[in-house]
Amino acid sequence: MRCLLCNKSINPDIAKCPVCGFRVIHTTYKNNETNNNVFKQIKIDYLEYKLSGISVGLKVYDYAVTENDVTIIAENDIILCECKNLRPNEIIWFNDIFEEIISDRKFALCVFVKKQNESNRVFKVDIMPNRNISHSKIGVILDNGLTFRIVIGKENDYISSRAIQLL
Ligand SMILES: [Zn+2]
Repeated sequence: MRCLLCNKSINPDIAKCPVCGFRVIHTTYKNNETNNNVFKQIKIDYLEYKLSGISVGLKVYDYAVTENDVTIIAENDIILCECKNLRPNEIIWFNDIFEEIISDRKFALCVFVKKQNESNRVFKVDIMPNRNISHSKIGVILDNGLTFRIVIGKENDYISSRAIQLL
């Protein structure tokens, strides 16, 4: 069977998922709206607890361009979202607009997962635009399991990166 929270394959005889710690629930209850809503709330409560103190961010760079060279002159970390606010399959948009993302070629973002008292996990994330995506917003979407993707675009019209493991 699969964990109902992180979607990893698990042994049904154990009490808790070894990956995310969510309790192993044998769904013998009736599949109706009330039960589904109760279960949805249990998942949301657990997500909030499990993802508390974790954030997803982006490294941004300022460049100095001379005739022959491009040099990084500053590096800043911006936090895109607090992960406890993420809900499966919903996007949290970052407020600022990334006007400089105007490209029809592949480009890379430097994404990090920040957790209290741990060093950041950093990922190089390729974005392959299939159209002009200027004046777009950047956002984070939580998948059904405990992975997320970076999205660029706007509501109902965006491209997304590969999935990154959140924990
Ligand atoms: Zn799990």
